[in-house]
Amino acid sequence: MSFTGNRTLEILRKAEREGYGILAQTCYDAHCVIGLVRAAERCRSPAIINLFPVTLAYGKGPFLQFCLNAAHQASVPIAVNLDHATDPEHLELALSLAEAGIAFDSIMVDASHAESDEENIALARPYVERARKCGVPVEVELGRLEGGEAGLRMISDAKLTDPAKALTFMNGTGAVVLAPSIGNLHGSYINPPNFRQDILKSLQATFKGSVPLCLHGTDELPDWLFVECIKNGISKINVNSWGRDPYAKALAAGLQSKPFPDAVEEATEVFAKVCERFFNVFQSVGKA
Ligand SMILES: [Zn+2]
Repeated sequence: MSFTGNRTLEILRKAEREGYGILAQTCYDAHCVIGLVRAAERCRSPAIINLFPVTLAYGKGPFLQFCLNAAHQASVPIAVNLDHATDPEHLELALSLAEAGIAFDSIMVDASHAESDEENIALARPYVERARKCGVPVEVELGRLEGGEAGLRMISDAKLTDPAKALTFMNGTGAVVLAPSIGNLHGSYINPPNFRQDILKSLQATFKGSVPLCLHGTDELPDWLFVECIKNGISKINVNSWGRDPYAKALAAGLQSKPFPDAVEEATEVFAKVCERFFNVFQSVGKA
């Protein structure tokens, strides 16, 4: 099965051609999903709803179906992506749902904890093939990012992506979206980020027009660095805590003093405003 008409790939390929970035914002609940869709419609921007495996495991098929409905019924192109699926039970859940007709628009099969590229390929490949049969494209990580996020394993020994090995790796896994390790890390940056733009440029030269590149580990990054990464080939930009933290704070505070629906509405708007800011930074406003 080819990926003709696949939402994630269509959104990312258009962004790459036209030189802007796509916000892939982690959504933890229905309010976040509604906030992201609302912001995307207001800004006429394409977007991606990112779900962590823990969120999928919590809400299962009915919650995924809700996310797909919200995304696909929006007046702008929005895709739903599973981020960092590593554990076999999470991959089994996502793939069995896809086979039952509730399919993510794309999934990340993260075997970056493997000791070698060959082991990474061997772990990822069977899932990539199974996903392909359902028309679901897969993102993989080459190299290894340091740090950790909600429900994901902590990694302490980062490995930079070797551009010379990237084409072999993508062919080996059969995946179609690449998350490189260029000095980015998950969670808080202890030292100021020092991104290897030379690695990114080299990947861009190899993959432009075929394999979209995804930037992970974006907590605390300055706006100019996002812009530089987009210029050097990044089209999908994963964002987590930027939206999550102000949303959680607003909801917690609002619930102390306001009726439940009012607190939810205000927190949803806080989340939407963060999304709007990133649509502007990534220059995707008006591109839908
Ligand atoms: Zn990530």
